[in-house]
Amino acid sequence: MKAVNQKQEHTNSYYAATVNETTDYSPLAGTEEADVCVVGGGFTGVATALTLAERGYSVAVVEANRVGWGASGRNGGQLINGINGLDKMRKKHGEGIADLLWELKWRGHEIIHERVERYGIDCDLKGGFVEAAVKPRQLASIEETAKEMQRRQFPYQYEIWDRDKTRAMLGTDAYVGGFVCQRDGHLHPLNLCIGEARAAHGLGVRIFEQSPAIRIEHGPRPKVRTADGSVQAEAVVLAGNAYSRLEHKRLNGLVFPAGSYIIGTEPLSEEVVAEINPLDVAVCDLNEIVDYYRLSADKRLLYGGNCNYSGRDPTDIKGYILPKLLKVYPQLRGVRIDYEWGGTMGIVLNRVLAVGRINRNVYYCQGYSGHGVNATHIMGEVLAEAIAGTLEKFDLFANMRRLRLPGSQWLGNQIIALGMLYYRLKDLL
Ligand SMILES: Cc1cc2nc3c(=O)[nH]c(=O)nc-3n(C[C@H](O)[C@H](O)[C@H](O)COP(=O)(O)OP(=O)(O)OC[C@H]3O[C@@H](n4cnc5c(N)ncnc54)[C@H](O)[C@@H]3O)c2cc1C
Repeated sequence: MKAVNQKQEHTNSYYAATVNETTDYSPLAGTEEADVCVVGGGFTGVATALTLAERGYSVAVVEANRVGWGASGRNGGQLINGINGLDKMRKKHGEGIADLLWELKWRGHEIIHERVERYGIDCDLKGGFVEAAVKPRQLASIEETAKEMQRRQFPYQYEIWDRDKTRAMLGTDAYVGGFVCQRDGHLHPLNLCIGEARAAHGLGVRIFEQSPAIRIEHGPRPKVRTADGSVQAEAVVLAGNAYSRLEHKRLNGLVFPAGSYIIGTEPLSEEVVAEINPLDVAVCDLNEIVDYYRLSADKRLLYGGNCNYSGRDPTDIKGYILPKLLKVYPQLRGVRIDYEWGGTMGIVLNRVLAVGRINRNVYYCQGYSGHGVNATHIMGEVLAEAIAGTLEKFDLFANMRRLRLPGSQWLGNQIIALGMLYYRLKDLL
């Protein structure tokens, strides 16, 4: 991974190649004042900025590269309910909090659907997501989810699939069953992120690209410094996730970078699409170390796999991911691969989102552990509410116990890699 102060353009992904509009916001030069300065122009940063702007705050966003340059513009585009840590919160606080957590875990979907509608964001948003069981023991979690939905009279379509239905709907023998939910779904993440940034800009948010923040000067009105300028604000939100090196002393050991990689095939014929994904759903298996895939709007198979926890990218992404794709879809042998790319996500040791404040007015939120399209939008709202003085939801996250690994990031990554080896073995059993 290159350091953030080397300003970069988008990676060579299917998303960058099919973007509706490119962004070219000027770099920060000189001094600016704002109510809130957000560092990082991914989903967390942009969603927070947009929520604040909708509520009348003046906001500046500084992004080291381009809007959506990080994980937000490169991910699998799977819109999946939930946030890492909610189950642990439920255990900690008991059933009294279950309804709030249930609402919270779907809130990102609502926000995204509302924004796509209100701001006319064309991001191929579609309903339909399948959790696919590779092993019979994985079926129990599917049944539990279905029971909870039944009990709560979940208003969207959902269904448990047996082995035959799963084979018919996904054109593969790889799974013993599945669970489809129409409220989850998939989208073009870079187009969503850029569209939300355009909406925020339209509401007065100043966006500065190619402007890595190099330090925060703390105080009653903290200042975010870049090489050529600064933003002074009442509050600062650190939204650089796995790519951020800011506030190393306070945040070191909380979040570790891990790579995930995707390949994009050539557009598939109508016959193949009808065989492997007639419902056009996103799919993620239920292993600990997941494979995930979906069709793009132009019917390419975008197939992704986790993960590299060592901090090193594979030299040959296609060589790493294609065998996984062919294991599920041997009938695609010989298909042309047009795109291959990867991105870095933030992993937290106990899979509880790392949310908090460095001091009264500098907030951070990072470590979605590969599950952030929906969750970043929830947290954008939670952060905006906290800045406005309503800390109820923010404190739920901030007060969770956080595991911090002592020592260097290298050591942390080795420990995470060992942990993942354990999970990989568990998947194989
Ligand atoms: C390959 C891949 C596939 C994934 N698939 C899915 C999926 O299908 N579904 C899902 O829900 N989640 C998925 N995820 C996870 C999801 O993409 C992330 O959780 C989410 O995008 C995190 O958003 P973010 O804004 O917090 O971070 P990012 O999108 O990484 O954005 C951080 C931004 O901060 C900027 N930045 C960092 N430091 C500084 C600085 N000092 N100054 C200024 N700017 C700075 C970076 O340039 C970057 O643009 C995937 C992740 C990857 C990598």
